[in-house]
Amino acid sequence: IEMLYVHNLMKKYGNNETLNILDGVNLEVKEAVWCSIVGPSGTGKSTLLKCIAGLLKPDDGSVRMLNHDIYSMTEEARSNFRRTNIGFIFQDFKLLSHYSVLENVIMPLLYDKDRKWLMEKAKDLLKLVGIPESLHNRLPDSLSGGEKQRVAIARSIIGDPEIILCDEPTGNLDTKNRDRIIELLLNIQKRGTTIICVTHDLEVAEKGDCVYRLNEGLLTKEEMIHL
Ligand code: ADP
Ligand code: ADP
Repeated sequence: IEMLYVHNLMKKYGNNETLNILDGVNLEVKEAVWCSIVGPSGTGKSTLLKCIAGLLKPDDGSVRMLNHDIYSMTEEARSNFRRTNIGFIFQDFKLLSHYSVLENVIMPLLYDKDRKWLMEKAKDLLKLVGIPESLHNRLPDSLSGGEKQRVAIARSIIGDPEIILCDEPTGNLDTKNRDRIIELLLNIQKRGTTIICVTHDLEVAEKGDCVYRLNEGLLTKEEMIHL
């Protein structure tokens, strides 16, 4: 099946702006593949990821995921599609500061699943990402960067998404925590999940099956980087 197919994506910010941040991006990603996207900061990697996720409407071009055209759906259908199929790990985590760790993890499914089942699943996932029970009732602000990152990952997979979009999943982490996150993402991929990973860290990027570089609005395939 076609996991992701991005065709001629165009995006600029503001009406008078002449610069296209995305200037005809094409990308095809198959099931259970880890695809890394690299490039210096400010080149539009986050913009591209948000367009892929259905969070930011491009000016032109299309995004197809699992044979659905993301931007020809209604807002409501797109939001449902996103909730069932896409896990998103934001660069700044976007954990809700007034809710506990456990509540943050169950949040994406709060309204459509049996609560007891959900709590058990959330606890399993927190264990999987290495968050001890002693942290379950803490508020996100009291966690370290690495812990927040792991909670965000648990939240992103609670819906068993087909695809996970990660924006700098190892930004601001030390080597030990970074290696844990890489390990975790590799395990998620092994279960058959497709991963699109935006990063400026080449050691993270090369864990992918393919690496693309975003440069001047265009995506080009990189030869595999060997450090
Ligand atoms: P990257 O993820 O590669 O660092 P971004 O996609 O965050 O790049 O940003 C690409 C460019 O678009 C930057 O110059 C940034 O300032 C600009 N930009 C991002 N978001 C907005 C926005 N909401 N409004 C205007 N400009 C934006
Ligand atoms: P098991 O072998 O019992 O499935 P795991 O450690 O593999 O144990 O997983 C623990 C829990 O995390 C299970 O509920 C599993 O469904 C869930 N899980 C693990 N990986 C993923 C993933 N990539 N996406 C969604 N759920 C996952």
